[in-house]
Amino acid sequence: MIWRTHMCGEPRKELVGEKLILSGWAARRRDHGGLIFVDLRDRTGITQLVINPELATQAAELAHQIRNEFVLRAEGTLVARSDETVNATMPTGEVELQVANLEIVSRSTPLPFQLDEENVDETLRLRYRWLDLRRDKLQRNIGLRAQMVGIIRREMEAAGFLDIQTPILFKPTPEGARDFIVPSRLQKGRFFALPQSPQILKQLTMVAGFDRYYQIAICFRDEDLRADRVQEITQLDVEMSFPDEELLFELMERMYARIWRECLGSEIATPFPRMTFEEADSRFGSDKPDTRYELELEDATEATRGSQFGVFAGAEAVRFLRIPQELSRGDLAKLEELAKEWGAKGLAYLVYDEEGEVRSPIAKFLSEDELARFRGDPASTVLFAADTWETTSRVLGVLRQHLARQLGLVDDETFTFLWVTDFPMFKRDEEAGHWGAVHHPFTRPTTEWEGSFHDDPKRALAHTYDLIVNGNELGGGSFRIHEPELQAKVFDLLGLSAEEQRAKFGFLLDALAMGAPPHGGIALGIDRMTMVLAGEPNLRDVIAFPKNQAGVDPMSGAPSDVTQEQLLELGIQLHEPQA
Ligand code: ASP
Repeated sequence: MIWRTHMCGEPRKELVGEKLILSGWAARRRDHGGLIFVDLRDRTGITQLVINPELATQAAELAHQIRNEFVLRAEGTLVARSDETVNATMPTGEVELQVANLEIVSRSTPLPFQLDEENVDETLRLRYRWLDLRRDKLQRNIGLRAQMVGIIRREMEAAGFLDIQTPILFKPTPEGARDFIVPSRLQKGRFFALPQSPQILKQLTMVAGFDRYYQIAICFRDEDLRADRVQEITQLDVEMSFPDEELLFELMERMYARIWRECLGSEIATPFPRMTFEEADSRFGSDKPDTRYELELEDATEATRGSQFGVFAGAEAVRFLRIPQELSRGDLAKLEELAKEWGAKGLAYLVYDEEGEVRSPIAKFLSEDELARFRGDPASTVLFAADTWETTSRVLGVLRQHLARQLGLVDDETFTFLWVTDFPMFKRDEEAGHWGAVHHPFTRPTTEWEGSFHDDPKRALAHTYDLIVNGNELGGGSFRIHEPELQAKVFDLLGLSAEEQRAKFGFLLDALAMGAPPHGGIALGIDRMTMVLAGEPNLRDVIAFPKNQAGVDPMSGAPSDVTQEQLLELGIQLHEPQA
């Protein structure tokens, strides 16, 4: 028994007259004055079946039973469609299969939603994910993802990287999220943590002499879910000994260029431009700037030190954005609301009308010099943020993105890649009263900060790099600390006592003390990459079986209850949830 001679997307004119066997799903059935038409679908496309009761009596009888999503096997002769019935929008639209024998291989209960239905509730889609995944868009997204991962593997192998698997049951690895913990039955009362990334383990593969490591790794981060977050992220994880930044960047650029070429048929420009964090922050108010458009931030802190306008004179930083449009009061009110959401106290502005006349509640407080400094073109607006440097970045960075969309400056057809380098090494954690690592605690300082980072942690820079495309962070990495003394010094600064260092990272410190080569690496999010590649705004739609936004899988019901017996074995007692 042969299931098929061809896939449903394959039949073409050249095959007319041949006997074909096709198997697939009934996407649609239409009855037309005796003739029955069925669109037969598989992963590769659709072929139209025609069942003529005069030529195939049995098949026609059976065909009346066909409902959407039944699985069928059809044997017949490929025929050309008449000119009037050719469907130019279908790759197989010039032909149809004249069915001789038909078999219903498998039936379907009534469907909870039709595959071509728009706006189906996401919970319902996730509940019946196997059906949802049959839709064109999801077939394409998941297919694209697989194609991309294939290219990644080929590029990494060609460059001499070894695919090494690391454990899922491990110890906490700090990436700044909460750990998922797993109780151990054999070691009652003790817990594994699921890795937030294989960071320490990949470093250990370098200490172990493997020289170049990669893995398509799953990382578990127990984060509160937002639209663009999931708790299981997949990343291309990479590490190399005796690291060479140029080699690493080139490898990544080559890989992306190939992914774009093979998956989308488009060329991206390499090498990718590079920019330090400091430059990105001051020009774009962001560590992941969208450089498809200009709208750059300007700094007026110096120019306003002696301002009569107290809000400017007293602020740590005064920065502004020039918008090439005379914004209305309504626009400004909305922008102010957005600015406040991101931490601004208000939004000062100067609006220039067609004649170049200024309209602004603050103009009267500004000196001639100040007004000259900010002077905009006719029909333009200047928007200010006066606050801490960080807040001005955050607020103007968001307004910049928002306005670029509103003004139609964003070209969705282009992809602008960018490396952002030299991030700050530490960030003050006011609550904890010590410094925290901006990247992770194993990141080394830049060469110039090696001897002095502990004297001025606020300004110290780390040897780090992030890869950005169109304002999305694809991932990032760093050169690592391979000297145990240096690592201990960083741990000290992060507020880890000597005992804590031993308990949490003793094994890493021991390894670093036994001949650790200099090393560095990167990790790039596969989910995010697929979203960009597929132009898919919904993160869950580039993942075959995602959880919903509450971290629940509506299909299987996970997470689910366990029996009292299982809990007992683990030595765990559940508290009643607080009322
Ligand atoms: N482990 C880091 C992360 O998961 C990346 C790296 O430093 O290689 O973000």
